[in-house]
Amino acid sequence: MSFEYAPAPESRTVVSIKAKYGHFIGGKFVAGNKHFPTINPATEEVLSQIALAGKAEVDAAVKAARKAYTTTWSKMSGRERGKYLFRIARIMQERSREFAVLETLDNGKPIRESRDTDIPLAAAHFFYHAGWADKLEYAGLGTVTKAHGVAGQIIPWNFPLLMLAWKVAPALAAGNTVVLKPAESTSLTALLFAEVCQQAELPAGVVNIVTGDGSTGALIVNHPGIDKIAFTGSTEVGKLIARAVAPTSKSVTLELGGKAANIVFEDAAIDEAVEGIVNGIFFNQGHVCCAGSRLLLQENIAEEVLEKLKVRMAKIRVGDPMDKNTDLGAINSKEQLNKITELTATGDSEGAQRWSAPCELPGKGFWFAPTIFIGVTQTHRIAREEIFGPVLSVLTFRTPQEAIDKANNTPFGLSAGIWSDKGSKILWASSQLRAGVIWANTFNKFDPTSPFGGYKESGWGREGGRHGLSAYLKGASHE
Ligand code: NAP
Ligand code: MG
Repeated sequence: MSFEYAPAPESRTVVSIKAKYGHFIGGKFVAGNKHFPTINPATEEVLSQIALAGKAEVDAAVKAARKAYTTTWSKMSGRERGKYLFRIARIMQERSREFAVLETLDNGKPIRESRDTDIPLAAAHFFYHAGWADKLEYAGLGTVTKAHGVAGQIIPWNFPLLMLAWKVAPALAAGNTVVLKPAESTSLTALLFAEVCQQAELPAGVVNIVTGDGSTGALIVNHPGIDKIAFTGSTEVGKLIARAVAPTSKSVTLELGGKAANIVFEDAAIDEAVEGIVNGIFFNQGHVCCAGSRLLLQENIAEEVLEKLKVRMAKIRVGDPMDKNTDLGAINSKEQLNKITELTATGDSEGAQRWSAPCELPGKGFWFAPTIFIGVTQTHRIAREEIFGPVLSVLTFRTPQEAIDKANNTPFGLSAGIWSDKGSKILWASSQLRAGVIWANTFNKFDPTSPFGGYKESGWGREGGRHGLSAYLKGASHE
């Protein structure tokens, strides 16, 4: 029996979006000079005009952050700082529906994910770091801990509010002030967060948010008044940043790309593994740096897994992100859709076999059907480069050692997944895999207490947990 789901749309009336936004500097919204549109990628509707910060605005934001650091924030006890973080966390929870709707409208991700994952995790990061603020000397990072000063933070569009939380919460807990730039296509929740800072009566200048494009990011990176740079985004821009800060005394953390292997051994629980594969690559349209984008199947179970995977993929509901039943929303931008289209075309031309789930894609907006490529080999571009979309490359292996060799044969090293019924095999495989985060019999699980980050071209440093905190303290042993 097949049955249709009636639409269950979330209401967009819970948010009021201004026609135009400015920057948040020194505790106030200040008008911008130039503006650019931000759109809803599911409909191509222009949601608002976002200000583009140039040198003057970035300067003003850094000055405000410095002033707040010297006059207020660095003088305040950890206990007092912690109170502000708790307050922010609580307000984020109170306004979570507003945040979720705004995130979905601006980003294109399903409301179910922004409501159940992005926003609760963002609040959890503030709660967790609020707890650290008055306990820094017990973090095992030395008894005399000192903040860097002003942190410049640049984040991507795939988890806009969550990435903000990963950056702002530890920075503030450790006693830094911040200048943050959200991604060009997803500034709205960062601007709503600025309102939350006002509502929490956070001292002016502790958090400054300047919106803009890559040129604004570069101004932050190169600003002499900034002591620490924290960046999440592409490896390409990460390398530019590493070069820019090398001759300076700035401290830097980089969270970059990935091409995770999700390894299914012959003794795995197949149905569970299929769910994990789907979650690993189709969560957030595959716009996930730690996505399980390379599926490694043991040869003798490959056929069965692929058959079940196709059946499961045909049930993925693609469409209106505001519908509570939707599993896969819109691709965040036209540029990203072009990148996915281009890279998947190389999959065809290099000889892999494409299979896409049968689904109807909306006429407007940016969409890509859930897709797998079978018969992928190690040299294919779709096995080596990050597609950052709902596309899975499938490879096979015969022996566990071959699985490890293939999994590690990548310039990245962010995450990996292991599916097996045997604890000993899981422990053996995880000790061989060169990846910062390894999930066993699950995938894409995040927690503020758990450090996240990668090896090789996936970046420098960790975010979350005690290790992430250390990145915001001078001379901490994990720096
Ligand atoms: P991106 O182009 O590197 O952009 C990331 C941020 O950097 C954006 O705010 C961007 O501004 C800004 N930026 C661009 N050029 C810059 C420059 N020259 N100097 C300073 N800042 C600059 O990456 P993206 O395409 O938005 O995001 C996707 C990538 O991020 C993927 O490769 C993914 O793996 C990675 N990612 C990694 C993690 C992680 O934790 N490891 C998490 C999420 C995403 P604009 O938006 O205006 O371009
Ligand atoms: Mg947008």
